[in-house]
Amino acid sequence: MGKWGVITLLALAVVLAAGAFAFVRLSQIEPQVLLAPSEVKTEIVGTSVEGRAITAYSFGQGETVLLFVGGIHGGYEWNSTLLAYQFIDYLKANPKVIPPNLTIAVIPSANPDGLHVVTGAEGRFAAADIPAQTTTVPGRFNANNVDLNRNFDCKWKPESMWRGEVVSAGSAAFSEPEARAIRYFVWNHDPSAVVFWHSQSNAVYASECEEGILPSTRAVMNAYATASGYPAVDSFDAYEITGDAEGWLASIHIPAITVELKTHEDVEWERNLAGVTALFNLYKK
Ligand SMILES: [Zn+2]
Repeated sequence: MGKWGVITLLALAVVLAAGAFAFVRLSQIEPQVLLAPSEVKTEIVGTSVEGRAITAYSFGQGETVLLFVGGIHGGYEWNSTLLAYQFIDYLKANPKVIPPNLTIAVIPSANPDGLHVVTGAEGRFAAADIPAQTTTVPGRFNANNVDLNRNFDCKWKPESMWRGEVVSAGSAAFSEPEARAIRYFVWNHDPSAVVFWHSQSNAVYASECEEGILPSTRAVMNAYATASGYPAVDSFDAYEITGDAEGWLASIHIPAITVELKTHEDVEWERNLAGVTALFNLYKK
């Protein structure tokens, strides 16, 4: 054997040893680590009127999808977006809380243009970023001055109400890109239940369109309300609402609830963690 033959054999031995070492190391790693359940999948599901991305973050690999949406009323209800971001952080840090049959999806900022009006920030923000004594009402609407929670296809009308005032509901159901972003996610992922976080009516509302409250919606409402301590309310009757997202979901037989935080400033974390945990338990196999 010549000099080059020895070198080739030595090189081969080194490669084989390295391969064997890597095999032993990998086989010592637990399978769930290799599957990386804590890994977050991000998907841009739409773009706002002003071009800001609307992103869904998903955790887990189960067939049953639960969707949580914050911030459809933008900067007027900025704490609902902070709650959704805290939920994302919690799922990243605690992947084992997700039952194996579930996928948890979170759209933290469904109205990023309205949020930007109040926070002045792009992407994540902190409560401290909100200027003191700012009027947050303009941040409720999207950049076309549409109340997005009046732009969905359930009893849609061009104008709707918010408290005592007339608000624009868009030029047609789903005229607004932010509403279409939620529809895109729903059409593509077929969630088994949807929770919308709002503030500040301190209640959990069921939803309906033309067929009354779905039994599954009532189960979701009661589970969340009992665990969180927000009172369960069958229907919002302070004033007539048309074109709300939850009603549209009811019309396509997907249970949806509205969770109204008690304040406009706090994320009310412990209560909402109890609420989402109750839904995990309701849907786990
Ligand atoms: Zn709201």
